[in-house]
Amino acid sequence: MSDQNEPNPAKFPAQAKWRSDNPEKVWAQRALRSAIKAGLVRQQPCHVCGDPDAEAHHHDYSKPADVVWLCRKHHKAAHRQLRAEGC
Ligand SMILES: [Zn+2]
Ligand SMILES: [Zn+2]
Repeated sequence: MSDQNEPNPAKFPAQAKWRSDNPEKVWAQRALRSAIKAGLVRQQPCHVCGDPDAEAHHHDYSKPADVVWLCRKHHKAAHRQLRAEGC
């Protein structure tokens, strides 16, 4: 099955590089997208502030459906904290 929402790597070289550097994240995001489409996972508002425009944050990329929903701001903050902790 082809994914029609896939960005064109020629237009997004940074994303293409990110994808080749992070295959497990790409896989987890894809799996999550399918799970949402199939109704297995529901998008939720930000866990911290309730912003309805939230993104899925994975703790563990081997569990694509195990996510925390965070708005852009809190998602960035979560990653900053992960980096600070050295993971
Ligand atoms: Zn938030
Ligand atoms: Zn994240």
